[in-house]
Amino acid sequence: MRNVVILGSGLAGLTAAIYTARANLSPLLVEGAQAGGQLSLTTEVENYPGFPKGIMGPQLIQDMRAQAARFGTEYLSGDVSAADLKRSPFTVTIEGEQTIETKTLIIATGASAIMLGVPGEARLMGHGVSTCATCDGYFFRGKELVVVGGGDSAMEESTFLTKFATRVSVAHRRDTLRASKIMQDRASKNEKITFIWNSVVEEVLGGSVVTGVRLRNVASGETSELKTAGLFVAIGHTPNTGLFMGQVEMDAKGYILTKNGTHTNVPGVFAAGDVQDPKYRQAVTAAGSGCMAAIDAERFLEGHG
Ligand code: NAP
Repeated sequence: MRNVVILGSGLAGLTAAIYTARANLSPLLVEGAQAGGQLSLTTEVENYPGFPKGIMGPQLIQDMRAQAARFGTEYLSGDVSAADLKRSPFTVTIEGEQTIETKTLIIATGASAIMLGVPGEARLMGHGVSTCATCDGYFFRGKELVVVGGGDSAMEESTFLTKFATRVSVAHRRDTLRASKIMQDRASKNEKITFIWNSVVEEVLGGSVVTGVRLRNVASGETSELKTAGLFVAIGHTPNTGLFMGQVEMDAKGYILTKNGTHTNVPGVFAAGDVQDPKYRQAVTAAGSGCMAAIDAERFLEGHG
């Protein structure tokens, strides 16, 4: 029987681990399929306080993991395959094999990349289709690329990809960007980046690897083919809450609803980070809510003997 089990190894989960470990609660952290969460897939983090020169996302994760380990956090690699939150103690099953009982649970399972769902996309995933410039950009040295999206992620991915690609075309379904002004300016000033406005990708073309995309201009209805060696999909994320559906209250998009800090509607179950945050979704807010969840769990345990 554990005091605290934390699901997720992004900034929210790791911060919850640091705090619960320092509170002598001997947390167990289940790392999940994407260890380190979204920051492990990112490049430079410039807006995390305390790093005036910025820090690489994977480095920040590695440092926080070591910090949590220093105070006694135990790590379990693997994905949660089942969770029963209907009665206390709660149970979580890892990879269909190991079942763990816990008095409190901190859900910090984050969010995953949304895909376009067009023909060719799933078939060519990993063969030119990617959701992670940091992971795959290197493979496209000297090539032309397409990025889809108009938010901060699309700007960040396209700017990063210009380190490798000769040209990056950003296809956006409207004629104005959603991205923050600073990210828009950075991308607009980059001479390797061009914007294809009012356009959606209808199909990813190619046999064994991506060779192009079919675009449709949503204003004129015209379709065209654009040659590209890769398609980077950067159209947002969806919360990883499938396992908890029907067990904790969520909003229409599947984000876990929290109140009084990080409390869910199930006493003893707390949620932190992007899994409960459709609004801010920043590294620092994820870490902050991980700290809150740890303190909430500690007080819950105190209150329940
Ligand atoms: P986002 O802000 O939700 O933007 C998603 C973009 O994809 C939008 O431009 C949207 O178009 C487009 N889109 C959505 N579904 C689409 C579809 N099916 N087909 C074509 N286009 C589609 O997501 P995000 O860019 O991932 O950013 C998420 C949050 O993380 C934001 O709060 C952002 O500020 C933050 N973030 C910050 C940084 C940073 O500061 N370094 C970096 C990355 C992300 P519409 O505009 O028409 O809706």
